[in-house]
Amino acid sequence: MSSVTPADIESAIRNVADFPKAGIQFKDITPVLADAQLLAGAVDLLCDGVQPGSVDSVVGIDARGFIFAAAAAMKLGAGFVPVRKKGKLPYKTHEQDYALEYGSATVAMHVDALKPGARVLLVDDLLATGGTAAAAVALVKKLGANIRQISFLVELKFLNGREKLRGFPVRSIVVY
Ligand code: AMP
Repeated sequence: MSSVTPADIESAIRNVADFPKAGIQFKDITPVLADAQLLAGAVDLLCDGVQPGSVDSVVGIDARGFIFAAAAAMKLGAGFVPVRKKGKLPYKTHEQDYALEYGSATVAMHVDALKPGARVLLVDDLLATGGTAAAAVALVKKLGANIRQISFLVELKFLNGREKLRGFPVRSIVVY
C-alpha cells in the first residue's frame, strides 16, 4: 500500500473554470495521472474496501474511468469491462439512456461482457449528478451481475449523485 493520501490527490487536481462551458468547474485529473506515485496511490485508494480476488470484473466508464479501472483490475486480479458512449463498441450491446441537464445521453456495454452473478467493482473518475454511474449500474444489472462497490476519485457532493446510487456501497477519495 502506498502512503499517498486523499489530500495529496486533492492538491494535484486542477480546477479549470468554464470548461467545457461557462459555469462548469472542470476537475482536471491529468496531473494525478502524470505523477507516478499519485497514480499508483489513486489506484490503491480506489481499491480500498475490495480484497484482491473478491471481484471478477472492474467496470470502467468512458473515458477517464477506463484509466483507473484497468489499473484497478490488474491490482485486484480481475478483468476489465468498458462502458462506452453509444456507437463505439463493435459487437452486440445493451444500451441505457440517462438524463443530462439538457437532453439525454446513452451508454452501452457488450452483451457478453459480464457473466451472470459476476462480482463487479464500478469505477469512474468523478461523480457529479450520478446519471452516468446509475446508467452503468443498470447495464451491469441487465447482465445479471452484482455490484460490490462503486469507487470515484472525485465526488461533487452538492450535486447529490449518491442519491441515484442508493443501496450500493459508494466510496469517493476527494469530496468537494
Ligand atoms: P454525472 O453523470 O453528472 O455524474 O457526470 C459524471 C461524468 O461526467 C463523469 O464521467 C465525469 O468524467 C464527467 N464530469 C461531470 N462533471 C465534471 C466536472 N466538473 N469535472 C470533470 N468531469 C466531470
